[in-house]
Amino acid sequence: MGISTDYDMVIVGAGPAGMAAAIYGSRMGWRTLVLDKVAVGGLAATTSIIENYPGFSEISGMEFAERLRKQAEKFGATIRELVEVTDIECNKFPIKVITSSGEFSTKVVIISTGTNHRHLNVTGESDFEGKGVSFCATCDGALYENKIVAVIGGGNSAVTEALYLSNVARKVYLIHRRDSLRAEESLQKQILNTSEVEFIWDTIVEEIEGNEFDGVKRVKTKNIKTGEEDSVRVKAVFIAIGIIPNNELAKKIGINLNENGLIIVDKNQRTNIPRIYAAGDITPGQGQISVAVGEGTTAAISAFLDMKGGDWYGQETKTG
Ligand code: NAP
Repeated sequence: MGISTDYDMVIVGAGPAGMAAAIYGSRMGWRTLVLDKVAVGGLAATTSIIENYPGFSEISGMEFAERLRKQAEKFGATIRELVEVTDIECNKFPIKVITSSGEFSTKVVIISTGTNHRHLNVTGESDFEGKGVSFCATCDGALYENKIVAVIGGGNSAVTEALYLSNVARKVYLIHRRDSLRAEESLQKQILNTSEVEFIWDTIVEEIEGNEFDGVKRVKTKNIKTGEEDSVRVKAVFIAIGIIPNNELAKKIGINLNENGLIIVDKNQRTNIPRIYAAGDITPGQGQISVAVGEGTTAAISAFLDMKGGDWYGQETKTG
């Protein structure tokens, strides 16, 4: 197609999937634009320590994000943070991407909008956000040096957060609604051997209490087996109870989603809309950085090959 466009590829979301697509797209010589309403790195940037990305035995989420940025920029990708994509006009060519900071025409779009933190939806949670309620230990943990804090959840995120905080805080309560963790074995081993962490099992948080001056002061809890209610004094509550997909844009433009609100893609990361691809945690998968990177890579390569014409791989669908 000989129509001129501002970019060859626009990537919505600068997490590991989007940045991998940007690295591949720009290295293939495509004029590549990455837009993110927050910043490079996505949720991975808020992870304290990444220990399972092949080739890095240990790297902080922030450093990983910075490396992704430098690598994509080195190959010529343009990265714009704090820019929200509000709509995509994809029923004609070229595609028009409408943002909070102008419109861009492009040949293809990769949606890698990822996920966001799930909320507890209890009294006090929103009132004390930024005053003791946090969703990111790496971002806010240092504020609670030598203090007593709580982490809520039992998955990989909660355990990673609690391990990070155990090096900063005096004591970490890990409050989980079951009597066992769902985090992977190696994380479980680490946390069960960390003396600063005390587990409060079978327990939910019913309210987060405090005042405007001091911020969070305590959490009200309830044991779901015995019904017993209690109050735990903490200076901060780190909530790590899972994620919800950032799928508003996908919904708006008519991309097919599965029952969990994730974008259905074929094995080459194509969505149901021609020239719109999706990759990373917004698609069904394992929620791993390495998987997101692979999917971003696949999306960029298949977009590139699709624009050269022809169905290169067939259309096996991944519905999750
Ligand atoms: P997750 O695996 O879905 O775990 C969420 C945890 O929160 C579960 O233990 C769940 O309890 C609990 N929970 C959910 N809703 C709750 C509520 N309303 N009140 C109390 N507890 C609640 O989520 P995640 O730990 O955030 O991880 C998200 C994804 O990122 C996963 O795919 C994970 O593998 C990935 N991740 C990977 C790493 C790593 O590889 N090192 C690190 C971080 C995240 P139940 O157990 O009862 O369901």
